[in-house]
Amino acid sequence: MNTDPAVRDTPEEPADSPEPTAEAPEADASLPTFADLGIDERVLRALSDVGYEMPSPIQAAAIPPLMEGRHLVGLAQTGTGKTAAFALPVLSRIDLSQRAPQALVLAPTRELALQVAEAFGRYSHHIPGLHVLPIYGGQSYGVQLAGLKRGAHIVVGTPGRVIDHLEKRTLDLSQLKYLVLDEADEMLQMGFQEDVETILATTPEEKQVALFSATMPPQIRRISKRYLTDAAEITVANRTATAANVRQRYIFVGHQQKLDALTRVLEVESFEAMIIFVRTKQATEELAERLRSRGHSAAAINGDLAQQQRERTIGQLKSGVLDILVATDVAARGLDVERISHVVNFDIPHDSESYVHRIGRTGRAGRSGEALLFVTPREKRLLGSIERATRSTIEEMPLPSVDDVNSTRVTKFTDSIKANLDNPETAIFRGLIEEYIAEHDVPAADVAAALAVIAQDGKSFLLPPDPPPSARRPARDPNPRDRNGRPAPRVAGPRRPRGDVPLATYRISVGRRHRVQPGSIVGAIANEGGLGRGDFGHIDIQADHTLVELPANLSRETVEALTQTRISGKLIQLTKTDGPPPQRQRSGFDNNRKQFRKSYPGK
Ligand code: AMP
Repeated sequence: MNTDPAVRDTPEEPADSPEPTAEAPEADASLPTFADLGIDERVLRALSDVGYEMPSPIQAAAIPPLMEGRHLVGLAQTGTGKTAAFALPVLSRIDLSQRAPQALVLAPTRELALQVAEAFGRYSHHIPGLHVLPIYGGQSYGVQLAGLKRGAHIVVGTPGRVIDHLEKRTLDLSQLKYLVLDEADEMLQMGFQEDVETILATTPEEKQVALFSATMPPQIRRISKRYLTDAAEITVANRTATAANVRQRYIFVGHQQKLDALTRVLEVESFEAMIIFVRTKQATEELAERLRSRGHSAAAINGDLAQQQRERTIGQLKSGVLDILVATDVAARGLDVERISHVVNFDIPHDSESYVHRIGRTGRAGRSGEALLFVTPREKRLLGSIERATRSTIEEMPLPSVDDVNSTRVTKFTDSIKANLDNPETAIFRGLIEEYIAEHDVPAADVAAALAVIAQDGKSFLLPPDPPPSARRPARDPNPRDRNGRPAPRVAGPRRPRGDVPLATYRISVGRRHRVQPGSIVGAIANEGGLGRGDFGHIDIQADHTLVELPANLSRETVEALTQTRISGKLIQLTKTDGPPPQRQRSGFDNNRKQFRKSYPGK
């Protein structure tokens, strides 16, 4: 078992071990700290503020070569900590006196661009005067122009909009030192290959390039060979095995619903003791506090805890004073408490090895154990890679419903009556109640019910029914994926609502004559209109125009943004049509896939 991140040749797909090992040993204590990696002191302070205790494996592997100025190709997915892996070295070397942008991060979607820009903001909290600017399609040019004029040290943008600014000469990349391609495979799938290559080719030759991608199709290999020199190639060894006596399940849940989901899990799962894993020190404290306020006996353990305090808390868990520990990976190392029947991965781990360490905290001493993993829409790929790396199947567990919770409450209620019938105290109350019934002439069941209400102490016994599905549907995933993390196939079919979104036909003024491809249409419209791949229906490219199915209720701003969009240099002039739907029975996504396969045979 190897917890060291490996710097080595990058395989076509994230690496698996040839042979799974039987039992996962404890995490390697020799992993470097952020300070060991030569990160700027102000950035270190920000990391401590956000509560990162240790570099994740991808960070431990990527930061040293990046700090040395080497080019880098990293196989990494969302959730591994790759953003900090490239952001920290950039921030540690930024020159505040240079006005023209020094660093450019290209990301496939506006959502990711914003997320990356926010991460830069958090990590640079103690660097006064540093400006990070997100630029993406769909936002007005005015805000972006103002930001560019003021001077941005770091620009995070979607390729289409970056190209637009370059063409308008409103973005000066002549002094660029660092270029990061984030989710490179995704950018190609969205039809941004030409834009990405243009940016790579027209920016200064001596810049440092870091390319991150979840997969390594030949086309990305070609780009890295062509534009990167002597690149360090990193991937994290995923040699892991999970114990057979631990049942593994996952719950698919929106980020905002995680706490609610956890409270339901705590009600319906019968557990003895539980350890809940989160990513940061702050999160351990916050979550433990929230659980305590809901009546659970929970405590936090993290790397800040003095050894004595840590031992006391673990002692309490062993003796049953505490039932729930909320922990970071670092704090839970080596924890061996037989009572732990459940491990909950509240935040998905960065890598499969951490997952194995985490779930190894249950199923001790020959007992069986339960491992639960919360997976948000963006993290679906990580689920697939954990399954592959651990060679195990993680079953889906539906989010416990209101009915599940309520029937558990009823069972617990009746069990508690049974358990107390022989309690010596009942003799005292029996006399009092008999007197009350005789005096007031009320049925015994009414009195018992009134007592149960008193015992509830003002809280409702049953959960109210869930709101109707439309009101609680989590935000639609813009890039739907199957459970292996691959983009979910979209089946072409008759004109009908896709998900809950009715589609309409739109006409755009570019066609075969303008040499447009389905990929570039999807990419441009998704980027400029802030749409997800799931918003596309059929695409029918005609000689001088194209019919595209898009959501019927596009907002006015989106339509305006799309009217201004250019593909192959031509304004697309999007308009809704009442004509028949596009003829070709192919979805935009399928077209895109086909296009992808045509360009990169063998994938
Ligand atoms: P990313 O893969 O960059 O999207 O990061 C996934 C999540 O991990 C984000 O919520 C980060 O804030 C968090 N994260 C990144 N690095 C660390 C670290 N070293 N320790 C704890 N959390 C981290």
